[in-house]
Amino acid sequence: MNLEQEVKKFMESKYSMMKASNYQLQAKETAIFPKDKALEYLTLGLVGEAGEIANKVKKVIRDGNRLNNPKQNVRDEIGDVLWYCAMLCDWLEDDMGKIMEDNLAKLRSRKERGVLGGSGDNR
Ligand SMILES: [Mg+2]
Repeated sequence: MNLEQEVKKFMESKYSMMKASNYQLQAKETAIFPKDKALEYLTLGLVGEAGEIANKVKKVIRDGNRLNNPKQNVRDEIGDVLWYCAMLCDWLEDDMGKIMEDNLAKLRSRKERGVLGGSGDNR
């Protein structure tokens, strides 16, 4: 096995090769909600799941090591947040993978220009 193959094998063992676009398509198979209220439903769901993450983290602060597998709890909620993000991307008729790429490009640009900190959407 050459170095490139070893790196590929390592990366595949450490990181999922799930593509966001593929996730978005598969997530859609489990989307059951009133389509005439899609934006409201998905936005409320996203905020609710983000709140569940906050609540898990709050419990870690309060209860510390007494919690049973807090990282797994947070991990599960991150998955729920991703589902709502994927469905919002679908509502936009856009591609989650492309949105992720655009977001990284925006952040890299801000970093290069020294404006990663601060505020304002268009900096
Ligand atoms: Mg949840």
